Amino acid sequence: AVPVTVVSAIGAASAFGVVVKSGAAFERFGGIRHLAVDKTGTLTGNNPTVTRVVTDDGVSENEVLKWAASLEGHSTHPLATAIASAVSDAPQADDVTETAGRGISGVIDGVCVSVGSPRWLDAGPLADEVRAMEMEGMTVVIVHSDGRPVGAVGVRDELRPEVPEVIRTLNERGIGVTMLTGDNPRTARALAAQAGITDVRSELRPEDKAAAVAELCRTQPTAMIGDGINDAPALAAADVGIAMGVKGADAAIESADVAFTGNDLRLIPQALAHAHRGRTIMN
Ligand code: ADP
Ligand code: MG
Repeated sequence: AVPVTVVSAIGAASAFGVVVKSGAAFERFGGIRHLAVDKTGTLTGNNPTVTRVVTDDGVSENEVLKWAASLEGHSTHPLATAIASAVSDAPQADDVTETAGRGISGVIDGVCVSVGSPRWLDAGPLADEVRAMEMEGMTVVIVHSDGRPVGAVGVRDELRPEVPEVIRTLNERGIGVTMLTGDNPRTARALAAQAGITDVRSELRPEDKAAAVAELCRTQPTAMIGDGINDAPALAAADVGIAMGVKGADAAIESADVAFTGNDLRLIPQALAHAHRGRTIMN
């Protein structure tokens, strides 16, 4: 049975946007000593915007952006939303398939187009420009047409404003923080420095994130917070999985023990305070 104090702490937490799957999960949450955190959409995602488009092979910037937007209209990834809203007249795409942590493909006007991570799609002659954009802190997606790199889209995806203070608060309470991201090491480092996170692991596939979390859990009780389908295996591997920005019934929530209905990361220290109170009254 779940102790009454835990139930009342859960009740208090739910009042400010924290949904808990079970009393046991909320008790475990109160005991965590480490937090693994996803980058794109979790530490960032306030209002990502397309800031640069580069092209090759005689293709125009407008064409590249339209192709990318056409596919991204089918995705809920935070980068997808930014790219899809950058044009108003995107062509229709068919046979669209998205691969978590990689990108999205489809057929536009009889041409196979893919948009996604430089880890998945070769940047070809655009590699230097892609690197330069990443050094500036942009997240870059490559656009392929019939298997050839034709363009790259740089998205500026800023840190959520409350993040540095949240990280500081967690560290003060003895909770270490590790960033886990599918993005490249340059963009990841630039953002981690702003956030005050020193342990950064990048270019991780969904299964790599899960392995990293499992390893952290062997050392100390660890929670993982993420927003996307690509985080589902990592959320399941954590002692406590937290899904953020919950809208509907997606894979991230299925795998989570705790869900935040909003996107404000101050919910972490706030929910922890409630979870601690539940534990303290009990003991
Ligand atoms: P994070 O782990 O930081 O949340 P993701 O795993 O969601 O990042 O994405 C990793 C990388 O995969 C992104 O930086 C992007 O390059 C690429 N990616 C994933 N989904 C998409 C998509 N729908 N469109 C374009 N690129 C994508
Ligand atoms: Mg994410």
